[in-house]
Amino acid sequence: MVDVRALGLLLSAVLLGGCSGSEPPTPKAVAAAVRSPSPPASPPPSPAAVVVERGSGAFSTVPGGSSTTGAGPLLTYRVELEAGLGLDPVGVARSVDTTLADPRSWTSGGRRSLRRVAGEADLRVSLASPATVDRLCAPLRTLGRYSCANGDRVVLNVARWLTGVPAYEGRLEEYRDYLVNHEVGHVLGFGHAPCPGAGQVAPVMLQQSIGLDGCTRGPWPYP
Ligand SMILES: [Zn+2]
Repeated sequence: MVDVRALGLLLSAVLLGGCSGSEPPTPKAVAAAVRSPSPPASPPPSPAAVVVERGSGAFSTVPGGSSTTGAGPLLTYRVELEAGLGLDPVGVARSVDTTLADPRSWTSGGRRSLRRVAGEADLRVSLASPATVDRLCAPLRTLGRYSCANGDRVVLNVARWLTGVPAYEGRLEEYRDYLVNHEVGHVLGFGHAPCPGAGQVAPVMLQQSIGLDGCTRGPWPYP
């Protein structure tokens, strides 16, 4: 015999569990979780670190460009920001430039060269609000938290750009290096790679925003 009342309770528990489980934490909650292990900081969080949860969906390309880095076949990229994120577009573009111009990045060893342009480009690096990331990355499930590469487009989640992840706590610049290198790696044709062994440097194509799986931080393709 089935106890109908018990079954009803069970069903509602499952439904509630499903609802709360599928509800991703807001980026603010993630940010709070990231900060919580450290002692309370005396200065308040910078106003620049406010995460815009849902932008307009309209993007503007950052004007200007970079010099060419590396040797080998040239790939151009452009950086674009969703309107209303409250960030300095030139500052974001320069940060991306600095990562990609690093000799440990994808131009290492004369494999290719990279240059930022302001117009048509081989690949696009788009910084977007969590809601827009989810839309642009679908059917990949970025859950308001993660970033993705989709075709020739890298879609970076502004929540991660501004608050990082626990594995890179206190190392936001280093995390941004990882984020840019990882997603650009997908556009270049690289898939995910596992941690090769406990204590080893993580390959950049490990999903380090989720965790290091026993590896140490590895923001570079060719460290
Ligand atoms: Zn990935």
